[in-house]
Amino acid sequence: MTDVERQTELDAIGAEVATCTRCRLHQTRTMAVPGEGTAATEVVFVGEGPGFNEDRQGKPFVGQAGTLLSELLGAVGWSREEVFITNVVKCRPPENRDPEPDEIAACAPFLTRQLAALDPALVVTLGRFSMARFNPGARIGQVHGTFRPADPESGAPDALTFSMYHPAAALHQGSLKATLFRDMEGVPQALVEARKLRSSKPGSAGESAAAIGSEGAAIEPGAAIEPGAAIEPAPTAQPDPLSEVSADRAETPSTQAIFSSADGLAQSAKPVERVDIAAESDPTDQLGLF
Ligand code: SF4
Repeated sequence: MTDVERQTELDAIGAEVATCTRCRLHQTRTMAVPGEGTAATEVVFVGEGPGFNEDRQGKPFVGQAGTLLSELLGAVGWSREEVFITNVVKCRPPENRDPEPDEIAACAPFLTRQLAALDPALVVTLGRFSMARFNPGARIGQVHGTFRPADPESGAPDALTFSMYHPAAALHQGSLKATLFRDMEGVPQALVEARKLRSSKPGSAGESAAAIGSEGAAIEPGAAIEPGAAIEPAPTAQPDPLSEVSADRAETPSTQAIFSSADGLAQSAKPVERVDIAAESDPTDQLGLF
């Protein structure tokens, strides 16, 4: 599917969402919020549902939580324009209550179709409702900051999923803000691992690129990877710890190169389990938030 075809499908889904009456949330919404971003991306962020400001504007993550999400993206050199951002439910639950199971189920086909169109390498889940879709049975207090293969039933069978707290949780519990930024540091590396995983699949378009990526590729120190920029593999293939990892879709073998993160973590294909001091409890569970 070309990026134009992806965008056409996303637009069609958005038009359906805008007039959807499949669940009771349509009765109280001001505007449905299908999601926004670029169709030419490898990374999708999935939150829980629209809040007050999102409901008014029809855009995801535009309130205080949205500002924090933009800061998190900026912390790894990404922008909202480089990713796609959406939610599990597309209409605001009244008073920002948790979405009900039947509401989540009614809205699920829209997210499934968005994921099918985008075919992301990496899905970043924001909050426990989003996490539950891609990692059923997981507890966010234990898995935040880590990545693993997405549940095949999630709609993104070829993606890795990286779990994070919902940014709004940090607005209620300030200590989570540092956790969010610390976890965010692992997202680019998760994308690297997702690329390796997809490229290594037999018959994949990036199979030949995997050979390039697994050996590493030389990039000018500190050079940004521009959307669609061709990165030629170097003869002496050593990972460059200073290179940035772009969230833009890398469709050609030359842009499938593997870049190491600044801390040089995880050159293996295994998910990196981050040991976190908050792993023994889930602070947002007590708050009933996200
Ligand atoms: S939340 Fe989803 S299923 Fe419910 S009315 Fe909105 S778009 Fe339709």
